Amino acid sequence: MGGRVTKTDKEWRESLTPEQYRVTRKQGTERAFTGAYWNTKTPGAYRCVCCGEELFSSRAKYDSGSGWPSFYEPLRDVAVETVDDRSVGMVRTEVRCSKCGAHLGHVFPDGPQPTGLRYCINSASLDLQPEESHD
Ligand code: FE
Repeated sequence: MGGRVTKTDKEWRESLTPEQYRVTRKQGTERAFTGAYWNTKTPGAYRCVCCGEELFSSRAKYDSGSGWPSFYEPLRDVAVETVDDRSVGMVRTEVRCSKCGAHLGHVFPDGPQPTGLRYCINSASLDLQPEESHD
């Protein structure tokens, strides 16, 4: 995975769209059913929009009905890190990119098997790299 990616707040702001910056660097949340990927079924790898690290595979993506892209597992356990988030009067588990600390979303224990987890992720924190077709 290499080392951690660190940039100043100014550098992040200049390298991201306002919505990407608000979500990933300011713990924002996009409105449900408004992001680019909530309904996407294209095969491929979802990279961190901030640092390019591959975080989720389309193979673990499922329709949670929530209006946000949902995955039952990350591509690799080490790709993401979790942090207790008590910001809205309840305890949620925040999910961040391990490499650059980008806020991605939250993980909830109401997902499908095989993990029973729902990684509820903002489209604005992701960049889909479609699989190359070979036909
Ligand atoms: Fe990242």
